Amino acid sequence: RAKDDGRDTIRFFLPSMQAAADNRLAIEKELRHALDRGELSLNFQPQVNSRGTILGAETLVRWKHPEKGYISPATFIPIAEATGLILPIGEWVLQTACEHLKDWNNQGLSVHHLAVNVSPRQFRQPNFISQVQTILDKTGADPRQLGLELTEGMVIDNILDTIEKMEALKKMGIELSIDDFGTGYSSLTYLKKMPLDILKIDQSFVHDIETDSNDAAIVDTIISMATHLDLKVIAEGVETKYELEFLEGKGCPLFQGYLFSKPVANETFVELLKTGKTQG
Ligand code: C2E
Ligand code: MG
Ligand code: MG
Ligand code: MG
Repeated sequence: RAKDDGRDTIRFFLPSMQAAADNRLAIEKELRHALDRGELSLNFQPQVNSRGTILGAETLVRWKHPEKGYISPATFIPIAEATGLILPIGEWVLQTACEHLKDWNNQGLSVHHLAVNVSPRQFRQPNFISQVQTILDKTGADPRQLGLELTEGMVIDNILDTIEKMEALKKMGIELSIDDFGTGYSSLTYLKKMPLDILKIDQSFVHDIETDSNDAAIVDTIISMATHLDLKVIAEGVETKYELEFLEGKGCPLFQGYLFSKPVANETFVELLKTGKTQG
């Protein structure tokens, strides 16, 4: 609040800022009911090799508001994170993802790994590990088919607690990746200490490979670093053939992006799993 900055401080509060704050409040209020009203669902985006063979998928939550239509997770996840609503939402996402995993296996379809995004607040809960275990027990999903996507920021603050939790998850058989890699500040020292399986190259670097030689160099560096640290690497946001060829040429084995498939609803994803590959 402006008041807290001292009596000499003058703060401008523009009408557009008021509108943004109102909108945020509205979203927060409606998000509280979204779970109970069944407005959330999951999409799945294939993770593929260069030939489009599906080797895994990422779970992405979707919110269909009754009047406003689809609201992007880029809008509501930060609000959920700030208000704590991410806890029940995150639990629901994990449980529902495990139910789908089990269901695909029952249909004789299988995906090597299904990754689920974990928010910082969710991961920091003291009982996060037992929550994951309870969901695995309840759904009967195979932990060796489950992956969790963490972000650099959450990995760095409270490094000891993080490593302890990561080791517990690894012991359960769960695959761990760092999402949006390159946008945070993780040092090589930390990376080496952590029981990680995968680095996901942030899509902002991938998008500018063709036009920005710095980004091309960053991508190249991340791929060779991952290789040296014996980590798998996935390039996110691959949209063009140029990007694919560049990444492949640098030794990147796994891709996720619109070139292969957008995130799709379960029915469409099941059809993709039946053929084992994407169109791209
Ligand atoms: P993320 O985890 O980095 O997910 C990748 C995002 O990139 C997704 O956006 C996906 O739809 C988008 N994407 C994939 N391929 C392409 C491409 O080729 N081009 C472009 N332009 N975009 C592509 P989405 O679904 O809107 O999700 C945005 C972010 O919201 C996610 O980024 C993640 O941070 C968060 N999020 C989504 N679902 C969950 C969830 O269940 N839990 C938590 N904690 N966060 C979630
Ligand atoms: Mg992700
Ligand atoms: Mg990402
Ligand atoms: Mg992202």
